[in-house]
Amino acid sequence: MTEKTAGIATLYIDGQWVPSSSAATRTVTCPADGTEVGIVSEATAEDTEKAIAAARKAFDSRVWADRPAAERGDFLLDVAEAIRQRKDEFARAEALDSGKRLVEAEGDMDDIIACFRYFGKIADQHPGRLVDAGDATVISRVVREPIGVCGMITPWNFPLLQAAWKIAPALAAGNAFVIKPAELTPHTTILMMDVLDTLGLPAGVANLVLGDGGVVGAPLSSHPDVDMVSFTGGLVTGRKVAEAAAATIKKVALELGGKNPNVVFADADFEAAVDNALNAGFLDSGLVCSAGARLIVQDTIAERFVDELVRRAEGIVMGGPLDEKAETGPLISAAHRDKVTDYVRRGIEEGARLRTGGHWGGPEHEEGCFYAPTVLDQCTSGMSVVVEEGFGPVITVETFSTEEEAIRIANDTEYGLAGAVWTSDAGTANRVSRRLRHGTIWINDYHPYLPQAEWGGFKMSGVGRELGASGLEEYTEAKHIYQNTEPAVSHWFPRKN
Ligand code: NAD
Repeated sequence: MTEKTAGIATLYIDGQWVPSSSAATRTVTCPADGTEVGIVSEATAEDTEKAIAAARKAFDSRVWADRPAAERGDFLLDVAEAIRQRKDEFARAEALDSGKRLVEAEGDMDDIIACFRYFGKIADQHPGRLVDAGDATVISRVVREPIGVCGMITPWNFPLLQAAWKIAPALAAGNAFVIKPAELTPHTTILMMDVLDTLGLPAGVANLVLGDGGVVGAPLSSHPDVDMVSFTGGLVTGRKVAEAAAATIKKVALELGGKNPNVVFADADFEAAVDNALNAGFLDSGLVCSAGARLIVQDTIAERFVDELVRRAEGIVMGGPLDEKAETGPLISAAHRDKVTDYVRRGIEEGARLRTGGHWGGPEHEEGCFYAPTVLDQCTSGMSVVVEEGFGPVITVETFSTEEEAIRIANDTEYGLAGAVWTSDAGTANRVSRRLRHGTIWINDYHPYLPQAEWGGFKMSGVGRELGASGLEEYTEAKHIYQNTEPAVSHWFPRKN
């Protein structure tokens, strides 16, 4: 890699690897055991200003925007191929930063490659459209154009995947951007910049700043030279981003949290539903925005279902990213583990029954931020564990007797990111999936998504969509061009002399 300065990974601004203007650094550690992963530059607000200025200059020069869209698409296909060739390096970096299992990080890299391929292929599929003005002398057309400078702010749970969902469509559409990854997990975004640099993306089109959200990330929401801010993270930060963006009326895309219902009817395939309820809640230690953290199960099977869920949850093996026996990993930090601990404690105080878990990872994981897979049953609407996004390996259980009640409970949340319905009846599946107010609904499955299909939230889970055709459109503006082919005097204001 080219960005190393005495072992320190630096910022990438205007096509150059540069240290922070304050020379400050941050040590990144692996949450599984606290070992050092690397040292990175800690940018200042002035560094973000420089990065925004570089992106502005690059966009206004049209060096990327005026490339034929098919060429921009080919570039993205090259990015996909470069990541494929360096997949082991990328996956290892992601696993060590986030603590997630290597096999999960490898899966994320496959998804990232697929994302770049998808947007590479559709980059030139935006021909615009002719509009019939009803007048033979008029040619009217609507074209899509890049927005300009995009600010991107990403979280720590799927660090490069969330970045890829933004970078790939932004570049496909011809924009320039400045990205700020989560401070705890910067390394794969640094590797991504290395790929873009090596493949010859013009200077200033892609810029990277590293560091604290309030200092380094905040200008991306408020700066007048940023035309759009695309944020993925928590609700509280998302509100701050939207508030800061309001002053300059920039376009805002928000991918926020979820409190996702996993609804199981009594006629569902029992084995598959239990297995996927575990997957829904405990994959990646529950650190998934679309995690099925709310199990809503029909009362006639609830006892047997929860008994089996608890039995299997107790068998889940925790371990670090390179531990091949591990089935789930740590939380991202000690502070985050404290938050989950408090969240579970409050739930129990409010009347939830702890069926399993509810404690840290045990003596063999003393150095790491592990939290045991946890099931809380006897949960009811309004309890904090049912309302708040816990963002950890915690499943709450609610029960229902009728379809109407299931729908009401599943929609009883301020979030609306994703949800699932398990049933063997096609009518039930169809009715319930149409009435759930969430952006993605799985029927008899949990978690899969496709780069070709839109992703995003209803209600407080966000604004806008990533992936799919809308994911590209997000990074464009619509422009109407109205051409009068026979100019004539309008007579609107009569000539008086
Ligand atoms: P977070 O909101 O704490 O941080 C996200 C990013 O925002 C980080 O890069 C952080 O440095 C930055 N930030 C913090 N304060 C800022 C400010 N004032 N201005 C600008 N940027 C600021 O979120 P997190 O804890 O990193 O991520 C977890 C959250 O992300 C969860 O709520 C999860 O549900 C959500 N998430 C959503 C999706 C989705 O697709 N909807 C995907 C992944 C994660």
